[in-house]
Amino acid sequence: MIKMASHDLKNPLGVLLGYVDLVWSDVSNNHVPPPTYIEAIYKSITRMETLIASLLDANRSEQQAFNRVAIDPYELLQASLEDAMPLAEQHHHEIVKNVQPNLHPIKGDFVELREAMSNLLSNSVKYTPDGGTITINVYIEEDRFYFSVKDTGYGIPADQQSHIFESYFRANTPATAHINGTGVGLSLVKEVIERHGGHVWFDSQEGRGSTFGFWLPMLDRQLPITSS
Ligand code: ADP
Repeated sequence: MIKMASHDLKNPLGVLLGYVDLVWSDVSNNHVPPPTYIEAIYKSITRMETLIASLLDANRSEQQAFNRVAIDPYELLQASLEDAMPLAEQHHHEIVKNVQPNLHPIKGDFVELREAMSNLLSNSVKYTPDGGTITINVYIEEDRFYFSVKDTGYGIPADQQSHIFESYFRANTPATAHINGTGVGLSLVKEVIERHGGHVWFDSQEGRGSTFGFWLPMLDRQLPITSS
């Protein structure tokens, strides 16, 4: 993990130092540095921030004990959406929500499940060209809680799909080469969902889009929560 973190952080850090040098040289010569330098610095910092957040998530997930409590599925979805919304707005995506009313509470670790949902939502936002549609389905069927997110994005080539839940695997396509990531998110989603007794799945077509989803067992029958 430490080896991987230092390897991944080296690249944006190198870029950052290079641009800081350029800015420093401009400023010392009484020149105003061009905005492209600042933009490149900002991008490198954002990339490092994403890397560190993912690595901390991986570490937390390995160490933290499983804390099972009753969870309001609407609250879980809302919290996960809040994580992904700023990027979705930036990309001008339309978000379509098909959420069943009167869902029962589910049991699990709120932080972990939020992380799993947020990861799937953020990926759909990230791997879809601007102006796409992200469709979220949430419902209960036969004592299982179902969540899925469908995008109109780049999709994953068929010959790379079998590796998609492996740690640090990133699909290699020209269309997604410009998108930053660590390849850690989906392996975490799988780990969290399976630890909750559920199952994660996906369906994807290159150039058309992907659907990622999971189901969780409803452990106890409880009174429904009224949708607000
Ligand atoms: P990251 O996004 O940080 O690379 P993930 O583990 O979340 O890592 O995803 C692994 C890989 O799966 C991504 O690099 C990408 O190639 C592919 N992927 C995940 N979600 C999607 C999606 N919704 N559409 C297209 N490709 C996806």
